[in-house]
Amino acid sequence: MQKIVLVGCGNVGMAYAYALVNQKVYADELVLIDINKDKCEGEAMDLNHCMAYSPSKIKVRVGDYNDCGDAKIVVIAAGANQAPGESRMDLIDKNSKIFKSIISEVMASGFNGIFVVATNPLDVMTYLTIKYSKLPYNKVIGSGTTLDTSRLRFMLSEKTLVNPKNIEAYVIGEHGDSEFIPWSNVNIAYKKVSDILGKDELDKIEEEVRMSAYTIIEKKGATAYGIGMCLVMITNAILEDQNIVLPVSGWDDENELCISTPAIVGKNGIKEKIFIPLNEDEKNKLINSMNTIREAIIKID
Ligand code: NAD
Repeated sequence: MQKIVLVGCGNVGMAYAYALVNQKVYADELVLIDINKDKCEGEAMDLNHCMAYSPSKIKVRVGDYNDCGDAKIVVIAAGANQAPGESRMDLIDKNSKIFKSIISEVMASGFNGIFVVATNPLDVMTYLTIKYSKLPYNKVIGSGTTLDTSRLRFMLSEKTLVNPKNIEAYVIGEHGDSEFIPWSNVNIAYKKVSDILGKDELDKIEEEVRMSAYTIIEKKGATAYGIGMCLVMITNAILEDQNIVLPVSGWDDENELCISTPAIVGKNGIKEKIFIPLNEDEKNKLINSMNTIREAIIKID
């Protein structure tokens, strides 16, 4: 029995759940938990009404934290989201308190699977999940810059008319304002990006990627479909032991914090973090991103 428990059934949680039932997933059950029980019940009914036409055989039901005991994956998308103009870091006080109680309830069930974290500020919440759960580092995965990377590949694909799947480009660092693109490593269909696009164009794309969440929140109040699909990618990587490379947030031993770099993700979570060769400017950007995360963590420790 492959069970997924989803904690937090708001915009992000339900975009994930809907993307999940729209695909062939190797999970038998999706259990929904939220402080708003009525919303959870309505969502479970609505999702089960997809099943007659879904490629997936997953059963959806409302549950509680006891359900985490034999779950393979617990996905957390609970907590406050950004209001227009608010940064991800502005959510730290509210969401760190929420995480303390959620993680302790999950662990009290005997959970020994893999946590997938979506709540912001993402790298801080991933760090807190490790700290509160005391699970091995590989078993805690933050969605990290998977969404930012997906945005980047879409934008590069629009410019170059190359399928995003053939674009080897990552956003790394904090999932937040200090994230950056190590352009020196970006290849599009085996060509160096700097041979295809000018510096002004690359700078514009980087700024658009960084500002995407702010723009979407300003226009429609929340972002959901992109992150929903990223969470399904991570889920499938675990359930199918895919060993695919994803820019997730995970424990960095040397710096004792969580940050996004590409990593190999499979049945045991993060199998290996990959350190991209960076030039001097990019190294400084990574240090700056680490400092931003570290300063945030120190404030709550
Ligand atoms: P939302 O307000 O729509 O949903 C949050 C849900 O959490 C609500 O249903 C609420 O009832 C529930 N909740 C709150 N406290 C809870 C608790 N203690 N236990 C259980 N459930 C609880 O918010 P959203 O738009 O879905 O965003 C959720 C989080 O995801 C935010 O922190 C947001 O910033 C983040 N987010 C992350 C990414 C990413 O790339 N990682 C992208 C978009 C949003």
